Amino acid sequence: SGPCGPCSEIYYDRGEKYGCGKPDCHVGCDCDRFCEVWNIVFSQFNNDGKGNYTDLEHKNIDTGMGLERLAMVVQDADSLYSIDTNRALLDRVCTLSGKEYNHDALTDMSLRIIADHIKSCTFMISDGIMPSNEGRGYVLRRLLRRAARHGRKIDIEGKFMADLASTVIELCKDGYPELDEKKAMIFRVLSSEEDKFNRTIDQGLQILSDMEDEMNTKGEKVLGGEAAFKLYDTYGFPIDLTREILEEKGFGIDEEGFEKAMTAQREKAREDRKLHGTHSLTGRDDSVYDQIDPALTTAFVGYDTLTADSVITCLTTEDEIVEALTDGQKGTIITEETPFYGTMGGQQADTGVISTEKGEFRVEDTIHLQGGKVGHVGTMVSGMFSVGEKVTLTVDKENRALTARNHSATHLLHAALQEVLGSHVEQAGSLVNRDHLRFDFTHFEAMTAEELAKVEQLVNEKIAESIAVVTEVLPIEEARKTGAVAQFGEKYGAEVRVVEMGEFSKEFCGGTHVKNTGDIAFFHILSESGIAAGVRRIEALTSAGLMEYYRNTEKKLQEAASIAKAAPSELNNRILALQEEIKALNSENQKLKSQLANQSLGNAADEVQEIKGVKLIATAVKDVEMNELRNLGDELRTQIGEGVVVIASEKDGKVSLMAAATEEAMKKGAHAGNLIKAIAGLVGGGGGGRPNMAQAGGKNPAGIPQALEKAAEVLAEQIK
Ligand SMILES: [Zn+2]
Ligand SMILES: [Zn+2]
Repeated sequence: SGPCGPCSEIYYDRGEKYGCGKPDCHVGCDCDRFCEVWNIVFSQFNNDGKGNYTDLEHKNIDTGMGLERLAMVVQDADSLYSIDTNRALLDRVCTLSGKEYNHDALTDMSLRIIADHIKSCTFMISDGIMPSNEGRGYVLRRLLRRAARHGRKIDIEGKFMADLASTVIELCKDGYPELDEKKAMIFRVLSSEEDKFNRTIDQGLQILSDMEDEMNTKGEKVLGGEAAFKLYDTYGFPIDLTREILEEKGFGIDEEGFEKAMTAQREKAREDRKLHGTHSLTGRDDSVYDQIDPALTTAFVGYDTLTADSVITCLTTEDEIVEALTDGQKGTIITEETPFYGTMGGQQADTGVISTEKGEFRVEDTIHLQGGKVGHVGTMVSGMFSVGEKVTLTVDKENRALTARNHSATHLLHAALQEVLGSHVEQAGSLVNRDHLRFDFTHFEAMTAEELAKVEQLVNEKIAESIAVVTEVLPIEEARKTGAVAQFGEKYGAEVRVVEMGEFSKEFCGGTHVKNTGDIAFFHILSESGIAAGVRRIEALTSAGLMEYYRNTEKKLQEAASIAKAAPSELNNRILALQEEIKALNSENQKLKSQLANQSLGNAADEVQEIKGVKLIATAVKDVEMNELRNLGDELRTQIGEGVVVIASEKDGKVSLMAAATEEAMKKGAHAGNLIKAIAGLVGGGGGGRPNMAQAGGKNPAGIPQALEKAAEVLAEQIK
């Protein structure tokens, strides 16, 4: 289906020497004689897929020529590998390996595979594809590893890919100038990928050859899936590489077993993450960071500026260190300097963007890595970055400002708590982000409503006073002399940063703050609670977060008012009135229920039997619940004075049974509990109780008449 039309193909007859020699050799034959160099399609119809053709509105001519095929014809080369550009590359492979082309079929194949793959890979990397374990990146990695293995096969010593890529670039740069522009990056990516595989390829090949020996000894023809997976997992052998090596010697692979081992490992990794936890702050598996050069560090320059230019020193994807990050990839960027504040001391990280003219990375989180490095974690949203590139780092202004307001507010809160509750109050932890703040502190009892109101008011007063926030970096001894509050249990270096809000608050703190307390706008405590012995927690809001909270609260109030059909200001009265109404309805309902139950008793009191001188009423009612049944029992007992009452009720297919005996009846031997126990089975249930009162449930209403008859017999046995 789709656009189509007549087509015309141009073939070149390369002469009989390329032919197969068969008498019916013709254009389109499988042999090499007739070479299609050009194809033209005159698109004029649309095929609906059911054999119906309609005229295309916009008819067109689609034409394409095979560049290398035409070169082969024009240069009278005998194959695609012999045209000048490819031949020059092939010659370079020959030089590196010390082999000659056209001497040995197997060697020729390796030479061609290497030349072909390096050429493809050079173009792929220039297009922004990076080696990885999935998608296009894995296609690239597989091509490179296959080339590396064929390099081993024909005795190329050491690394050779960048060398060959430079030949490719020399040959193609006139038509593809971007190859030359990206030369340095292409070499680096190839080299680092080659290094990675070189570390394991020889060992892997040795292991594989041991596996082959073992299969030969055992007379097996298929390599187990587990073994193939070990080669993949430990030695980086893509399965198609292992397959190719084995096929050369007539072996196969249990591919299903390989897939199974792969799935099992993925599940195990997931389990392990669950067991051992992940990065405490980010929730990620961060083992990739362990491989980063420990000498790298990042300088934080973001106290006074939200943007800075710096150089990328390291890039990682989610699971490996890479030379470049490209469009759509998730990863981490490390730079020499950064204005991004990494999550620390309870303050949540900055977000923002890292950009160049050609690419943009969205920073979703900023984290501190071992050895004084800052990692910008996020997604490459467009273009590509490579190591060594100069980038501009820009912190999200709003996120930083909102977080700063909440952080500065915790300092005011800390000081206010000390003033209101006493100097025993010490910070025990905190969390500040753009939305809210949380402050944990030492205090021995729950705060009263008055204390909370006082603290909140004091903080708001200090906000209204618009106090300038001053930060200073001081030698630790000098800093202590200022009387600034240090965090309990925290270790400080030779120099500390002191954050002052007038005389009211002085703290050691590395966080980012507002310039003036007035920026906090307003402050409100949401809750105060205990989180451990002697440790309290306050949750609070400022500025935008608080505004959002009030908006939501107002919205909920309006919704509630509209449901209650009252103005918001009348809502309380409306609820009180509704509660009164419910109370009145309930008591009326109760009255009606007992009236109904009494009516259902009818003339039960007239059915009194005498069992050995003890009065017995055994009767059935309809649709009465157990609670009501007990009331009925009391009612009947009063009516007969002394004796035994048994009532059964059926409601919704279920049976309730109750029995009651008076003092006198019990003296004569009556036992309500035993009586119920003896008859409950007849209504498909069980139960029991005390001598004076018992109840049971059942699910066989049909047994009620029998049960009531049996009650008389049982009572007769009980009476002495
Ligand atoms: Zn032929
Ligand atoms: Zn602080």
